[in-house]
Amino acid sequence: MIKFLDLNKINNRFRSEFEVSFSKSLDDAHFILGKNVINFENEFASYCGAQFCVGTANGLDALTLILKGYIQLGKLQKGDKVIVPANTFIATILSVLHADLVPVLVEPNPDSYNITIDSIKESKADAKAIIMVHLYGQLCDVEDILEFAETNDLLLIEDAAQAHGAECKLGMAGNVSNAAAFSFYPSKNLGALGDGGAITTNNEDLARVIRQLRNYGSTKKYTNKILGYNSRLDDMQAAFLSIKLGELNADNKRRREIAKVYLSEINNPKIKLPFYNGTKNHVFYAFVVEVDDRNDFTEYLNNHNIEWLIHYPIPPHKQEALSAFSNLEFPVTENIHKKIISLPISPVLENNEVQKVVEILNSY
Ligand SMILES: *Cc1c(COP(=O)(O)O)cnc(C)c1O
Repeated sequence: MIKFLDLNKINNRFRSEFEVSFSKSLDDAHFILGKNVINFENEFASYCGAQFCVGTANGLDALTLILKGYIQLGKLQKGDKVIVPANTFIATILSVLHADLVPVLVEPNPDSYNITIDSIKESKADAKAIIMVHLYGQLCDVEDILEFAETNDLLLIEDAAQAHGAECKLGMAGNVSNAAAFSFYPSKNLGALGDGGAITTNNEDLARVIRQLRNYGSTKKYTNKILGYNSRLDDMQAAFLSIKLGELNADNKRRREIAKVYLSEINNPKIKLPFYNGTKNHVFYAFVVEVDDRNDFTEYLNNHNIEWLIHYPIPPHKQEALSAFSNLEFPVTENIHKKIISLPISPVLENNEVQKVVEILNSY
């Protein structure tokens, strides 16, 4: 069996370090917003090249608190429109709704799967913000979108939940916009042993407000300045994340290596391979191919013991929870959702497993 993602194997690499830091945390007994959170926030900010990092309970909260933070600062008003991709994980769209803002869904580019400057312009929305999702680990066309946002006075926010460590000329994921949200869900390129998230930004006011929002609206214990939430990054998870951050670049490099093998050696005309420009702008959270007859293909993979997933099987606007959007049509997005399938790619995949995937795909 070739596993889609072997979390045991990924995390066992750090087992002894995890155990040391677990014992230390148990001894220190500073479980909430202790020094592990402060350390990780500093490390992750500097990893991304951003001035500030604020840990949160998960990625959805990171996105939501960025938007609520801007509302608190008067930069967004309830009811303002926010441009988001139609094909994304539902969290991106939920964050906009939870912040009482209005999501304007736009189609992605069918090759990169990301929103582009053209799709943003075509939406003609009088929006106040854009959330660009670096889907599957590949950065959006950051330069174009950033320039458009700056000239039109729009806030630009990154959903970088799949793109830890992706890098382009302008900088790293997390530092190519006004503010970025990360998730440390266990399967992400940088994954905790539970839930976790963070925001990064160079805006000191925003970082300060989000620090309050995540902790009951307080800066001082039992003094509540604003209506806050409880969305803190867990201190023990922060310690585990600091340990894993040390391997992130090597892990991403390995993911790109595997992707390059797939891209050069899979040559079955029935399988459409993903677009990749060969640079560090992609960290291959997922390696997504397209086939016309997905049922037939997944059955074939099952028969040959290759695990697979679909990111994602139902587009957000077709979800029951978003029935208010169900009358909208997004043919590019819907077509993508019908055909895509994610192949195993992870830093612990062995070369012989990669070769096996290539062979099996080529004989389909
Ligand atoms: C994982 C993910 C999120 C949400 O992260 P959680 O930590 O699960 O809340 C948001 N956006 C995208 C694109 C994701 O992949």
